[in-house]
Amino acid sequence: KIVVLDGYTLNPGDLSWTELEKLGECTCYDRTPPENIVERISDAAIAFTNKTPLTRDILQQCPALRYVGVLATGYNVVDVAAAKEQGIIVTNIPTYGTSAVAQYVFALLLEICHHVGAHYEAVQAGEWAQRGDFSFWNYPLIELKDKTMGIIGFGRIGQVTAQIANAFGMKVLAYDNYRKKELETDVLRYAELDEIYACADVISLHCPLFDSTRGMINKASLAKMKPGVIIINTSRGPLIVEEDLAEALANGQVFAAALDVVATEPIEADSPLLSAPNCIITPHIAWAPKESRERLLGIAVDNLSAFLAG
Ligand code: NAD
Repeated sequence: KIVVLDGYTLNPGDLSWTELEKLGECTCYDRTPPENIVERISDAAIAFTNKTPLTRDILQQCPALRYVGVLATGYNVVDVAAAKEQGIIVTNIPTYGTSAVAQYVFALLLEICHHVGAHYEAVQAGEWAQRGDFSFWNYPLIELKDKTMGIIGFGRIGQVTAQIANAFGMKVLAYDNYRKKELETDVLRYAELDEIYACADVISLHCPLFDSTRGMINKASLAKMKPGVIIINTSRGPLIVEEDLAEALANGQVFAAALDVVATEPIEADSPLLSAPNCIITPHIAWAPKESRERLLGIAVDNLSAFLAG
């Protein structure tokens, strides 16, 4: 018995579950509210989740469960230690969306640098900058060439983000606790966090959410950053202490932030980030081009087939 807990996130109606259905008796729910998780998977051998949390308490109420497929790269939605204790295999899908997320970093960064949407709205309203209808200085443009991008977490997405940054003429400083010196070039080198904080014009977060990375962008680290820094987070929301970022945006220490992920998703109505100046927030969609989702579904089927084949 296979249960997909939140299939809507992967398939908003444009993909087919046919290949997964060939592997067992498959039930696919669009979404599963927390109170329905146990009843839906308590007698299932296989569960797939994208964002539905599988905590220790929930896993302990699902004795038939043998396999959890995380339909995502980050697997923080599953208590992996608890799963291991119960003999449940957990798989994630680390490669499907590398290009999509790196591309999205630049969608966010270019929006900060160019405000294309705001300028288009001005044109729709009958305005034209050079005629003096509005001041485009309200939306200062920023050139990326010769700026420095600090990339924290230099794995798959971080490395592709660096390639794009280099193509824009940016220098890259990368931080990772596993260093591959062969990746260094004349425009890309590893650096310690303090050097990145001191030198980077743009900081992009790409490390996973672990206890050791939770809250790493906080009052103290923000104070070490170059005044006017731009922060991009497409990794996981809890890497940032949101009250501290909102304060740094308000006092100008951070010029702008663009966040595809936030600490609590969906974002809470009283989040300090919603009213912070120069803060773009998108609803965790960097991963979601159809090309990526097709790859994700294909790898999910391959992973489960491999598990079933022993
Ligand atoms: P990856 O595993 O290839 O890279 C992560 C890197 O972080 C690794 O090189 C690892 O050594 C490094 N790392 C681990 N602990 C660290 C620490 N304490 N400090 C600095 N670096 C550390 O993963 P990836 O494919 O590049 O994905 C990165 C993250 O992006 C995922 O964990 C996930 O949370 C997020 N993600 C978000 C979306 C989205 O839609 N917004 C989509 C896919 C992935």
